Amino acid sequence: MSGPVTLHVDPVACRGHGLCAELLPELVTVDEWGYPVVADARVPPALLARARRAVRACPVLALRAQAEVSGTHARQGSRAARPPETRHKM
Ligand code: SF4
Repeated sequence: MSGPVTLHVDPVACRGHGLCAELLPELVTVDEWGYPVVADARVPPALLARARRAVRACPVLALRAQAEVSGTHARQGSRAARPPETRHKM
């Protein structure tokens, strides 16, 4: 199960279009050069749909929404989490 969703901007990919700030002004503002500043990376549930829309609208895929995953859940499905007998079967 996933936890809260956080917003992240890839500063290398971002081209400063400012579209994300227009679509989600509650969480994203722009600095003096027009590049986004994410005020609070955690997206409140009420803004989740609009945050996902802003992510989809970014023309260079620089804005991402990621679900925070707890350490236990992050390991589920990984090779280390499988019983040894399921690894390297010939
Ligand atoms: S829409 Fe994408 S490219 Fe434009 S400012 Fe936001 S993150 Fe940067």
